[in-house]
Amino acid sequence: MAYYQSKPVSGRHFLQIPGPSNTPDRVLRAMDNPTMDHRGPDFGAFVLQLQPKLRQVFRTAGPVVIYPGSGTGAWEAALANTLSPGDRVLMSETGWFAHLWQELAQKLGLKPELIETDWRRGADPAAIGAVLAGDKAHVIKAVCVVHNETSTGATSRIAEVRAAIDAAKHPALLLVDTISGLGSLDYRHDEWGVDVTIAGSQKGMMLPPGLGFNAVSAKALAACEASTMPRSYWDWRPQIASNKTGYFPSTPATNLLYGLDAACDMLLEEGLENVFARHDRYAEATRRAVRHWGLEIQVEDPRHYSSVVTAVRLPEGHSANALRTTILDKFNMSLGNGLGRLNDRVFRIGHLGDFGPLQLVGTLGGVEMGLAAAGVPHKPGGVVAAMGYLNGNA
Ligand SMILES: *Cc1c(COP(=O)(O)O)cnc(C)c1O
Repeated sequence: MAYYQSKPVSGRHFLQIPGPSNTPDRVLRAMDNPTMDHRGPDFGAFVLQLQPKLRQVFRTAGPVVIYPGSGTGAWEAALANTLSPGDRVLMSETGWFAHLWQELAQKLGLKPELIETDWRRGADPAAIGAVLAGDKAHVIKAVCVVHNETSTGATSRIAEVRAAIDAAKHPALLLVDTISGLGSLDYRHDEWGVDVTIAGSQKGMMLPPGLGFNAVSAKALAACEASTMPRSYWDWRPQIASNKTGYFPSTPATNLLYGLDAACDMLLEEGLENVFARHDRYAEATRRAVRHWGLEIQVEDPRHYSSVVTAVRLPEGHSANALRTTILDKFNMSLGNGLGRLNDRVFRIGHLGDFGPLQLVGTLGGVEMGLAAAGVPHKPGGVVAAMGYLNGNA
């Protein structure tokens, strides 16, 4: 049963938006424990055993700052700790989230330079490299990339962005938003030379909303010392200092940290490689269903297909929002809406987090029945195509 629902419905709600994702029972049970004294001895010991697990998920040996806050707060923290008002930052406008991050940067007094895309692909490492190569005076202080653009279903290739920065011999910091990627997609903070990784709790990490993360490189910490941006709550330094003994400068979100501990255990017990392979498999099955229906996938470049979310375009003259409303009313499933310029043009199927083959088949079944109920032209049988792929007989 949903905690609050305006109409009686039977069965479990399918929360197939690309975050918040479904929270596993094990995480919910972990949060359902008495709140501890966050200055007491057990709390420090608890956090000290959590930190190495969290670092493994980010694939970093460095500090991971945890804020009670959403991904947007973690975006702000990344910029406010490393840059100074007036600094130029190079951003790839891969979709709605990249657009919002750029607006946030402007409000902080930064000067974003945008590389636009048609919102049908990820960031272009060659274009980033070309701008940096032209910036001989090194006025660009940071390159900002959204790893998994949740609004379009495009995953940018961060290792290639890193290589482009290196090839241009440019000293800019690399700031990466993997708010919807971490815990679902292969991600390597240290190996890819990322300076700040921005993440959140409610997508691939399978927690409820409420935590934001910054993984921080040594170079980013040095930039933090030099930055003149005003900051207090978001300042990394007091937290990194307190975290050394397992504490926080202000009250942490204690019960969400229990949930985080359980979520890290689940990811590491399954094995990160297996988690990523599972996401790849469900994403491919989803795309096969979409193609079978005769609908178009928003992302055009297969190298940028996201294993977290698939945005599906509707034929001209059909409303994606009407389809989503039909599916919610008839089948009790929430799908993602189109954001910004994609409003009503696409719907988004989240296939991330705590998700198994039968949830996927149920999700795709709901979409297929919804297409029929809403009168959207399509070829029936997409779910069968997906099942064939999952069974290895596609
Ligand atoms: C969800 C999301 C955000 C915003 O995070 P909030 O937790 O909603 O503040 C930013 N970037 C991406 C890629 C996201 O998916």
